[in-house]
Amino acid sequence: MVYEILRKYGIRGGYHDQHFLIDERVLDRIVDSADIKSHETILEIGAGIGNLTERLMAKAGHVIAVERDPELIYVLKDRFGESDKLTLIHGDVLDVEFPAFDKVVANLPYSISSEITFKLFRYNFKLAILMYQYEFAQRLVAHANSKDYSRLSVNAHYFADTSMIMKIPRGAFSPPPEVLSAVVELKPRPSYFEVLDEKYFLDFVTAVFGQRRKKMRNSILKNKQLLGIDDMKEFIHELPQELLDKRPENLEPEEFAELANMMFRHKQK
Ligand code: SAH
Repeated sequence: MVYEILRKYGIRGGYHDQHFLIDERVLDRIVDSADIKSHETILEIGAGIGNLTERLMAKAGHVIAVERDPELIYVLKDRFGESDKLTLIHGDVLDVEFPAFDKVVANLPYSISSEITFKLFRYNFKLAILMYQYEFAQRLVAHANSKDYSRLSVNAHYFADTSMIMKIPRGAFSPPPEVLSAVVELKPRPSYFEVLDEKYFLDFVTAVFGQRRKKMRNSILKNKQLLGIDDMKEFIHELPQELLDKRPENLEPEEFAELANMMFRHKQK
């Protein structure tokens, strides 16, 4: 079925992150995981030839599909143009403002996974079911004290509960990507720890993971300018010493927040 559509429109893919999902069971499982209700509006990013779009439209009240490639916009219009269930947005996902949506379901363009994920966190929504490159997915769901735990993990835990739903082989796509993929579930929720200044917290986490082998004490001293604390050499004694002896990969998200909040307060003085 999906092959027929690719053939009919002469679409090859393989460039611009274009890897179309052809495995019908995988497509069905993605849609099932989103548990779509008939009143819900679903956002899809990178709709391609519409194989996921079609399934989303069958369940949702409304679908908003973003796609950048004019050739694929043509296909999508040709396939679903008549339906008032679909809003097509022709543009770069990083440039467009999303209309309100309840859930987001997408097989993402992998080269901008990180940018898209952070952009999504600025919106209010209930659930995201997203296909990522496997390594990226592992970092997104990782917890402290594991090798995949990273800046991305801490950020994700700040905004949402994350879990990996399934690993997807290369053969599920046409053309097959060079990497394995995985579907991740993100459930946004208010943070379970307090952050005084979001930007300061996120910048701090980014800075210390830039030197993930270094102990926190050394990273903090080295980044005193970025952290905006001139008297860091003295102030660092006021921070919880047991945290400073650890490496970033061994700190819980709330421990990063504790440090960031203390430094932010000191900076404000
Ligand atoms: N959902 C389809 C296609 C996934 S491939 C399927 O599962 O088969 C990723 C899609 O994202 C491609 O259609 C590609 O053209 C589109 N894309 C890539 N970069 C984009 C961007 N910056 N903005 C919007 N769409 C983009």
